[in-house]
Formats: sequence, structure tokens, C-alpha cells
Amino acid sequence: MSTGTLTIDLDAIAANWAALDARTAVETAAVVKANGYGLGAGRVAATLKGAGARSFFVAMAEEGAAVRAAVGPDADICIFSGHMQGDADLLREEGLIPMLNSLDQVTRHLETLPEHPFGVQLDTGMNRLGMEWADWAAVAEDVLAQNPVLLMSHLACADEPDHPMNAYQLDVFTQMTEGLGVPRSLAATGGLLLGPEYHFDLTRPGIGLYGGLPYAQARAAVRLDLPVVQLRDLVAGEVVGYGNAWQAQRPSRIATVAAGYADGLMRALSDRVTFWAEDRPCPAVGRVSMDLICVDVTDLAEDPDHLTLIGRHQRVDRLAEAAGTIGYEMLTSLGHRYARRYLGG
Ligand SMILES: *Cc1c(COP(=O)(O)O)cnc(C)c1O
Repeated sequence: MSTGTLTIDLDAIAANWAALDARTAVETAAVVKANGYGLGAGRVAATLKGAGARSFFVAMAEEGAAVRAAVGPDADICIFSGHMQGDADLLREEGLIPMLNSLDQVTRHLETLPEHPFGVQLDTGMNRLGMEWADWAAVAEDVLAQNPVLLMSHLACADEPDHPMNAYQLDVFTQMTEGLGVPRSLAATGGLLLGPEYHFDLTRPGIGLYGGLPYAQARAAVRLDLPVVQLRDLVAGEVVGYGNAWQAQRPSRIATVAAGYADGLMRALSDRVTFWAEDRPCPAVGRVSMDLICVDVTDLAEDPDHLTLIGRHQRVDRLAEAAGTIGYEMLTSLGHRYARRYLGG
């Protein structure tokens, strides 16, 4: 095997969904956008359907088709970007539910797919997607007469429990939606963890299912093993990689592993990341290049045939921190060259 192996633990993803579900008294959906945060939307969605999930969210209509194929006809698949120009056929054929986020989208939807289910996305201060309060006030009565299936909004700072924005958005959302008799959803993973007043009728966790922060108790769902392509011995003073960025201070044994920034291991990780040979840490040395990374394995008793980058000793969030990013970006960057191996499900 010449590519790395990304092992995805579907049982862990199902366990994370069930554990989050158990924290609320309401329906728990599953967010599987961006190909299930890079782990495979079809496999993840089918697994979560088996675990009891009935509603799925993706970012765009095209992603919804892949999820529909995996979960069959009797699940709700909702589209965060709503009803975009040209989406009508796909929405109808795949039975997808757009979360309409502007007056234009409301008009487009009611004109092109008048009987087709939809939800409404409201902006409560994040200013990214959703109808603003004044627009909503202007059309709410007409829109409600068409029976939306969900009113939703999104929290901007839910990963910071003490941030005043959380209570502010909760208050705005409540005022915009109270007493309308339509199911409501405000919380993603972070909001779900804030407590029951944020749960409304449906929560929409994504990252927590995949083992990422802010759900610190999540089971890890991903392991990444990279094969060693070559091993060599250096004398003190020799250098490694582009720019001569690392110099051996002692006689060193260097392993070259088969992955690089083209596989989502950002160049920013250069000199800042540790690999593992079972329980022994081995520092990466020199610059991360497109397809290769060099690792100092001098202190190992035996030559490794592979090294682990994400696993028991190092979760996605630790790696993300080393790269100066967040687990979400790390996960969704993990490349297409890895062989994906699924456990359980
Ligand atoms: C991505 C997203 C989610 C899921 O967020 P997590 O932080 O991954 O749980 C929920 N709702 C909306 C609108 C999103 O864009």
C-alpha cells in the first residue's frame, strides 16, 4: 500500500450521535455536509440512519442527492443554502427540503415548487445566511400560510459557552419564532452543549459526531496511518528537505512517509507535528512537502513500516492546533488519496 490509510470508525460516529441525542429531549438530526466532514457522507448517513437519525442536513442540493441514495426515501434531507437558481429539479427528484434564506428564495420556491416542503432560515445576528428580522416580519404571515416544516437559525459563538452572543441570539430567535406553531432549531454541536433552552425541537450536530471539539467527550472517529517510503541515516550536520530547514544535531535515522500538503497536511505543520510509532513519539523534521514528510525515528528500537499521525495519542483537534486551524478544517482537508477503511456501521 503506497497511500496512507484513513480509518473511519462508524461505530464511534453512531455512539457520538446517540450520546448527543441522550443529552436532549428533542429530535437529533445529523449534519453530513462536505461529504460528511470529509469522512464519507453516504457511509456516515447510512450508519446514523441505522442508529435512529431521521433528519440530515447538507450545505447544497447536490450533496443531498448522495445522502438520499444512502438513506432511502423515508428520511428528511435539508439544504442549508436553501433553494438556489436551477435547483428545482434536483429538490423535487431527490425530495430535498431547502431552508429558504431570503425573500428571493421564498419567491423562487413558491413559484417553482409550490407544494414542495421547505424550511426558513432566519438571521439572528451572525449575518451569514438567513432572513433578517424586518424581512421576516414582512413575509412571515404569507410564508407561514404555506406550512414551513422548520424555522432555524445558527449561533455564531456557541463554542464559547460564556459568550454573551449566545443569550442574545437565543432571545432574538425566540422573539422571531415564538408561538408560530412551527418546529424550530437553533443548536449545532456547541449549542446543544449549552443546555436545554437552546434545544427547541431539533438539534443539528455535525463536528461532535465526528469526534471534534467542542464536544470534548466525543469518541475519536478517525485514525490516519502513513506508510514509510524510505529510511536513511544522516551524520550530524546533514540537512533534510526543502530549504535545508532542519539540520541533524546528532547521527539520525530519518523516515520519509507518504503524505503531504496535497493530502490535507498543511505546510504550516512543518516542524510542529509529532508522529507516533505505536506509543513512541517521533517528531516530523524539515518542511512538509506536497507528497512527503520526513520524520526523525532515531530513538526507535526498530524501523517502522508505517507511522500514525491521527490516533490514540493525537486527535484531530491537536493536529489542527499545530497547524493553526480548527478540527473542522483539518477533517475536511484530509485528502482524497488516502485509502478509506471503515470500521463497524
Ligand atoms: C455546519 C453547520 C451545523 C453543524 O455545526 P457543528 O458545529 O459541526 O455541529 C449546523 N447548522 C448549520 C447552519 C451549519 O452550517
